[in-house]
Amino acid sequence: MKYFNKPFTQQEAIAANAIDAGIKVMRSGRLHRYNSKAGEPSETDLLEIEFAQYMQTPFALACASGGYALHIALCAAGVSAGDKVLCNAFTLAPVPGAIHNCKALPILVDIDVNFCIDLGHLHQQAKTSGAKYLLLSHMRGHIANMDRILHICELFDITLIEDCAHTMGACWDNQPSGTFGAVACFSTQTYKHVNSGEGGLLISKNAQLMARAIIYSGSYMLYHHHLAAPDPEVFTDIRLQTPNYSGRMDNLRAAILRPQLRDLDKQCHRWNKRYALIEQTLSLCSIIKLTQRHVKEQFVGSTIQFSLPSFTEQEILTVIAQCSARGVVLKWFGDTIPQGYTSRYDSWCYLENMPRLAKTEQLLSTLLDMRIPLTFSEDDCLLIADIICEVVMNTFWSVK
Ligand SMILES: *Cc1c(COP(=O)(O)O)cnc(C)c1O
Repeated sequence: MKYFNKPFTQQEAIAANAIDAGIKVMRSGRLHRYNSKAGEPSETDLLEIEFAQYMQTPFALACASGGYALHIALCAAGVSAGDKVLCNAFTLAPVPGAIHNCKALPILVDIDVNFCIDLGHLHQQAKTSGAKYLLLSHMRGHIANMDRILHICELFDITLIEDCAHTMGACWDNQPSGTFGAVACFSTQTYKHVNSGEGGLLISKNAQLMARAIIYSGSYMLYHHHLAAPDPEVFTDIRLQTPNYSGRMDNLRAAILRPQLRDLDKQCHRWNKRYALIEQTLSLCSIIKLTQRHVKEQFVGSTIQFSLPSFTEQEILTVIAQCSARGVVLKWFGDTIPQGYTSRYDSWCYLENMPRLAKTEQLLSTLLDMRIPLTFSEDDCLLIADIICEVVMNTFWSVK
């Protein structure tokens, strides 16, 4: 029997040039982003300008985490207490958490068979709720039809906020994911596409919004240090009207991110090669259902999702257990008990007026999810996919 024996949570080491950059910051002692020599940009300033250039957008802000970035993005976009914010029901807990942090009310929207936000339900929820904000999570890198998303937002005068934790480096129709709405947030946490342990990046084309975000992030009156920021005049009133929610990035993390950003496209390519190998093998098993991708969707395959629509809950649990026994770690978003990083929407019990989303629950009940760290070789990916197919077929035959 085939076994796999590498950890699914092991990312690649930080590259030597990034380590050198980090050591240089530590030797200087200037770790705080505003602690730079006169006239010299800090590593954080440089990361922001490089990320803005990469994203083809004028403004970028580095902060303490992706979830923190989401919180201040919502605040900067104007979300305040009691406001309704549309949000897909299939996402990770920091997303509803960021809405809750604004004392706003998430209006959960179903997902569709491809694990994107369900456009029909979005239209209906937008119409009946009157919500003026959509926090769209490109969960697990599945990008909904952005042409239709923008149309719905326009129709109901909705401000779009993008959660791009899984789409850094991805595009829709050659336009970078994160440049469709008023503001977008990325995570640089270890399991995302660049790794500084913790960290977040926020981008916007809107000068007022970005000025508010910079003050929220804890710039004090040092906002003029920022290079990927609006002109200082934009801050004149905003700096006194906006509270400081202190959540800056530091120069050490920025220093190790800058070389990673230069390698991002290359890394995305490596992810997609591995994803394609796994997808190809899984597609040979008729019981496994893979997602359909729109031709305009240029995703990053850092994780893979597939369904076993004909399997019962017990059979899904058998597949997970047997894969695990052979070293393949699958996650199940259908579990009623929140585990590890995964939790289903109905476990966010702090939300008021929790709806029942039968369609989402049904889709999640047979959805399996797997990380594809770049420490896996292409051969590893083929072996993993073989093991999954074998386990699925064995489970199928043993119970039918
Ligand atoms: C990781 C993640 C976030 C938040 O990022 P942190 O940096 O961990 O706070 C937000 N949304 C999704 C979908 C994520 O996976």
